Amino acid sequence: MYESRLSKIINNQNLENVWTSIKWQHFPASAKVDLTQFIAQIKPAIRTKLLCKAYASELIQLMHSYGWYFAGDGEGYVVIARDKNLPELIMDVDQSNQPHENHLGLLLGYPSCCCRFVSERGGENNIDELASKRKKIEFKGEYTLIDVSHYLDGISLLSHVPCSYQCFPSLRIAKEMKNFIHQHKECESFSLWSSELARYYQF
Ligand SMILES: [Zn+2]
Repeated sequence: MYESRLSKIINNQNLENVWTSIKWQHFPASAKVDLTQFIAQIKPAIRTKLLCKAYASELIQLMHSYGWYFAGDGEGYVVIARDKNLPELIMDVDQSNQPHENHLGLLLGYPSCCCRFVSERGGENNIDELASKRKKIEFKGEYTLIDVSHYLDGISLLSHVPCSYQCFPSLRIAKEMKNFIHQHKECESFSLWSSELARYYQF
């Protein structure tokens, strides 16, 4: 059933509706990257943080109206997914006391090579440091698309740290994002943000 609702969302008018109905000021800038990957069906679920916890109830209603499922941990972390059981599962894994970065990353749709890479290097506490170690200049050719050094500013085609400067599964995801952005550049509110990405990545 969600298939039909979602396919409606992917045309420009419905993307416009989704984009303008979300109060982006209550999210970190990176949420636009995450949500686009979700809408484009590149990822099965996303996890982000609400800057304003009071927005949660309105957001839950909005997500339900699109046929999406939601879980929140009360601390502001929220998970949105198309599968009914996935948000709770992701929350449980995330809150586990055992090492869980690999499992969590796989549930969020990250490439397995990149999940392994992060979990072997101290997990999510080190993610920002790992991302900042990747220098834009080291990405060659089309692999410049997997540069995530400005993810926190909302300028990224990925929402994970690629395991190397030549991670092919990450490149595939970045290209899907690029295609989605191309296909929806007529969508006015979406393109206000996505044109910044096109400028940064020069496509
Ligand atoms: Zn990788």
